[in-house]
Amino acid sequence: MITTDTAPAPSEPGGRGGRIGRRLVGQICLVGLMITIVLSGFFFTNWNQQRLIDLREGGRQMRIAQEGLMEAEAYVLNTSLGDQDTEYSAYSRAFEALHSREDKLAQLDRFLRAQDGTRPSAVALVKALETSWTEVLAVARDGRFAEARGLLQQRRSAAQVARLRSAFDAFLTDWNAHFAIHESRIEIGKVFVLVAQILIGAMMIFAFRSGARDAKARLAAMAEMDRSRTQVGHLFGMTDMLQSAADHHDANAVLRATAGELIGGFGGALYVFNNSRDRLVLSTSWACDDAAALPEQITVNQCWAMKRGKPHINRSGARALCCEHHASSLAALEIPMAARGENLGLLQIFAHGAGAEERLAAILPLSSALGDAMSLALSNIALREKLRNQALRDPLTGLYNRRYMEDSLDRYVRLAEREGRKVSVIMIDLDHFKRLNDEHGHATGDAVLREAAAAIVGTLRETDVACRYGGEEMIVFLPDCSLEDAAIKAEQIRARIESLSGAHGAQVSASLGVSSVPCTSSNSADLVKAADTALYKAKHNGRNRVALAPVRAGRRSWADGGESGDGVLPIAAE
Ligand code: GH3
Ligand code: MG
Ligand code: MG
Repeated sequence: MITTDTAPAPSEPGGRGGRIGRRLVGQICLVGLMITIVLSGFFFTNWNQQRLIDLREGGRQMRIAQEGLMEAEAYVLNTSLGDQDTEYSAYSRAFEALHSREDKLAQLDRFLRAQDGTRPSAVALVKALETSWTEVLAVARDGRFAEARGLLQQRRSAAQVARLRSAFDAFLTDWNAHFAIHESRIEIGKVFVLVAQILIGAMMIFAFRSGARDAKARLAAMAEMDRSRTQVGHLFGMTDMLQSAADHHDANAVLRATAGELIGGFGGALYVFNNSRDRLVLSTSWACDDAAALPEQITVNQCWAMKRGKPHINRSGARALCCEHHASSLAALEIPMAARGENLGLLQIFAHGAGAEERLAAILPLSSALGDAMSLALSNIALREKLRNQALRDPLTGLYNRRYMEDSLDRYVRLAEREGRKVSVIMIDLDHFKRLNDEHGHATGDAVLREAAAAIVGTLRETDVACRYGGEEMIVFLPDCSLEDAAIKAEQIRARIESLSGAHGAQVSASLGVSSVPCTSSNSADLVKAADTALYKAKHNGRNRVALAPVRAGRRSWADGGESGDGVLPIAAE
């Protein structure tokens, strides 16, 4: 059966749409995270750079203060040694520099307190030095240089300056350490930002590529959907056409046309069971380069697909697991066909060239759908044929029934008349059949009737038609058969029926009447009547014999005054 669903499947939470959505959200979150990291790294670097600028400026100011102290000390020492060249303004500038940076001295104090609470305050030391040096300079200006130097020693200025200098040095060393920390932080921040930027770039590329991949996959899926919609359309069209197929010929034409559209580029063949269902007979083939190599018949035992009831691929060249019937150099996909629980035939699809097996495997679902549609059509055709047969055939003997005979005899006769040909009729009645029933039972009577019918059919050509006329009477039409030939055929039938006697321990025989158009009769009604009359004559003359209807005036036949002289053939066996 072809089962198709053209409605689009709803997108499930775990489906493709859900997956793409989740991936997109994940990518957005990651990009957000990376941007946050880049911004943090940026602000972190900026902050450290600002701190570095502050530190550099602070260090510079501290160094100016330190230099001011050094310059002031140098001025005081030079002056106490009698140097009158140096200007006082240099000393006052040096102290101005120190006073204007009292915040730096206060910072130095805080640093010193943090290092060692017992250290003297830098501000206090500077004040003490300024007081001492003012006194020393006043004495030196009076020319009392030795007194000035003694005062310097007495006030321990050198020691105070040394303390201040070491404080400045310690502070600047610590300052430099901070400086280095911030510098390395800036480097780390830069690397951090760089790595994050590289990661963002990589993610962007990844997102772009996966987006492009998704878009490509979506396009491919849409193309695939379009293709399968077209295929479903073809299959529906095929099913629709097959509904109207009256026989195998029609169905084969539909199959060939649909196969060409659905699986173009592949050849194929269809085998269906014969009437006796013991072999598969080639019904049709298409696009087959080597059609002559296709066997006319296949037995089920020769075919792996039929034996297993599953599709099978016969590989070109390879002999492993190849069906016995596979003689072609092509690769062949074999699909067993069944419908309503009945095996109906075999569909073959052929391919050649490189990758033939893979291409056949790829079209397996489509070919199976094709096989399903065709199976159903074959099953319907068989069903219709069965129903037609049931309406036309007699169930006991399998011969056509009287209705068929009445419908068709007139047609046969008219056709023969128009074409100037002959039609003969043989009427057959079993002898003493009532007695046979009475003596051997009705079941034996039925069996004898069946066997007599089979014996009659066994002597006929394919174009001859045998019907059960009623009870134990049968009638046979013989198109294109003269009275003489019909008489010979009748004699054969009589002999065959007589030969049934042994099988049931009962005497079986039949009397037969023969007539013919145009020799004995002019129309169908006369023809049957003449055969019936001849039959009566055969009964009258002793049964188990053939009698011919009299030839019409003006028609000549050897039966005219034949051997017996009365149109009755002698008993051949006697
Ligand atoms: P005759 O040689 O003169 O033809 O004698 P007869 O007994 O054959 O002819 P008759 O017409 O007297 O009897 C026909 C018998 O055939 C009667 C009937 O029981 C039997 N008969 C008709 N149809 C069937 C059938 O389907 N099955 C069986 N078993 N018997 C049948
Ligand atoms: Mg009878
Ligand atoms: Mg009879």
